[in-house]
Parts: sequence; structure tokens; C-alpha cells
Amino acid sequence: MSRPISARIDTAALRHNLKVIRQHSGRARTMAVVKANAYGHDLLTAVKALNEADGFAVASIEEALQIRQTGWTKPILLLEGIFSEAELPLCRQHWLSMVVHNRQQLDFLQHAGSAPLPPLFIKLNSGMNRLGFTPADFDSALHSLRQLPGITEISLTSHFATADAPAGIHQQMQVINAVFAGLPYPKSLANSAAIFRHPDSHADWVRPGIALYGASPFSDCTGAQLGLRPVMTLTSRIIAVQTLQPGDALGYGQLWLADRPSRVGVVACGYADGYPRHATTGTPIWIAGHKTRTLGRVSMDMLFTDLTDLPATVGLGAEVILWGEQQPVEQVASAAGTISYELLCARAPRVNPTIV
Ligand SMILES: *Cc1c(COP(=O)(O)O)cnc(C)c1O
Repeated sequence: MSRPISARIDTAALRHNLKVIRQHSGRARTMAVVKANAYGHDLLTAVKALNEADGFAVASIEEALQIRQTGWTKPILLLEGIFSEAELPLCRQHWLSMVVHNRQQLDFLQHAGSAPLPPLFIKLNSGMNRLGFTPADFDSALHSLRQLPGITEISLTSHFATADAPAGIHQQMQVINAVFAGLPYPKSLANSAAIFRHPDSHADWVRPGIALYGASPFSDCTGAQLGLRPVMTLTSRIIAVQTLQPGDALGYGQLWLADRPSRVGVVACGYADGYPRHATTGTPIWIAGHKTRTLGRVSMDMLFTDLTDLPATVGLGAEVILWGEQQPVEQVASAAGTISYELLCARAPRVNPTIV
């Protein structure tokens, strides 16, 4: 028997979430975002379960090639485009769509010869100030793309900074509408947050990431409230039980002190598994059907939980759910001062996925 921690990946939930996203996306096609090992859910597991998507979006050519090797023939979009000219032949060979976001990438393409080029998504920086041509540079960049001898398909794209926040997308949409006005190309704008709250951004391709995995992009509601089902359930077990007297201290830094006779469960899960070290005392956790809380400081391979008010039968060997359907990952993230995305992506390689 190995360490009792594992990440259950529910492929039926993945398919369900894709369907929900589709219902919210109007007539747009779905580019399922599976970068970062499908947000920690295992790339090929996600790709297989999401085979009804219209395309996949990734951050690297390595991810794209893994997807092609499964026999996937529909679009794959490199969200950051290529990082060097040397990647172009592979993009052509495997027909990988590329974002084009800067002058250097335009130069690569201008040296690319006249053989057909895979679809290009030219990116506008509409206010995120991360990638893309400024509104002032956009027309000339688009003009250069159109002159490429191998050009086959052009699409327009941009990305929102505050689709999940009260500020919304209004300001960026004004820039986008002004720059894209009259251009006869398909558009891709919406991330998960924009899919749910900003239908005016749906356009031709949506790019859902976090919602596919069942977590909410919003701080004011959970994935379940959006009709989504969590895909990952991180489970482990209690491997030791300690009995503390008032005044006894717990773990590194002695951060937590018992103020009454206490029963403490030690769980085989720590920050080297991807559980956030910054989760403070009181982070919610689910043990054998009961909601309780973490105590003290998370260590590399273990963390502490409060069993004091749980039935005495909950002890050594009890099942623990760190996050999943019973324990929303959003709550754990918020207790650790971060977002669900970071926790899901941080699943450590030593935590084996169990595919169901
Ligand atoms: C990661 C990413 C997405 C997906 O965002 P979610 O908030 O996870 O839906 C969409 N578009 C781009 C450009 C991205 O980098």
C-alpha cells in the first residue's frame, strides 16, 4: 500500500461542464483550454473526455503534439503562439493554429515561405496589457498578416482583465469593437467568466478554462451555483491521531495551542502534494462525512485537522476530502489567499490521478 493520497478525476463531470458551457455560449464554438496539464487534471484524460469540443487551446507546442498524437484532427490553438522560428515547421506539419501577438512573431512568419500556414489568430491588446498589438499598431500588423503568401485563415482575438469582477468588460469591449469594426474575420474573446456573465463577448469562439473543471471564475459564487460539477476530488486518509491537553502546541512554529482537551487528526497531504501551505487554521476540510477545519501549519507531507467535535469513531484510517464535491476548492483557495486555478494546477506529480 502506498501513501493514501489520490486525485479522483470525474470524466462525466468534465463532459457535463462542457455541456453547461455550451448552453451559455450561444452559437459560439468551444475552444476548450487544457493548458497546464488541463489545470492539473491530466491533459490526455481531459482531451479524451472533452472530444465533443470544437478545438483545444494550449500554452506550448509540446502539449499540442500530445493532443495530435491521440488522433485529434480538429483545431488546436497555441495561446502564446510560437516562441522561436524553429517551431514553425512543426506547426505546419501538425496544423497547429497560432496566436500572433507581437512583431517578432510576424517576422518569423515573414520568413516562412509560401507553403500554406495554419490558421492565425491575431491578438489585440485591448487593456489587459499582457499580449497583443496595441490599437495603434493593430491595422498594420493585420496588413502584414494578409500579405503572407502562405496565409489560409485569419481570426481576431483579445483577452479580458476583469470579466470576473464588477468592472466587467465594458471598457475593453469598446476598444475591441472600435478596432475590429468591419473586419470580416471570426473573433474569439470570452474566457469562463465572460461566457457566464457577458454574452455580448461570445462572438465565434469561446475559450473556457476553469469552468470546464467545475470551479467558479467568480469570487461571489461557487461552481455548483453555476450548474458546474467539480472534476477533481483530492482525497487522503488520517494516518495518526493525537490527544492534546490545554496548552499543548501543534506542529511547526507551534502556531496552534489547544485551549481544551483536543483530538487532532494527522492527514497524509501536505504542500508537496499541492495543498497550499498558506491555508491557515480554520480552512474547511471534510472527514468521513463531517465538515471540520485544519489546524496549525501545513507541512510538506502532512497537515493537522480538528477531530474534537467529531464522533470518536472518526480516527485512524478515516477518509479525508481536501477538496471536491463535498468541499469546494474555491473555499480552500480563499482560506489560503489564492484562487482555485492555482490549487488545481499545483496537483503534484506524486499525487496520482484516478480516472473515473
Ligand atoms: C487561460 C486562458 C483562458 C481560460 O481562462 P479561464 O479563466 O480559465 O476560463 C482563456 N484565454 C486565454 C488567452 C488564456 O490564457
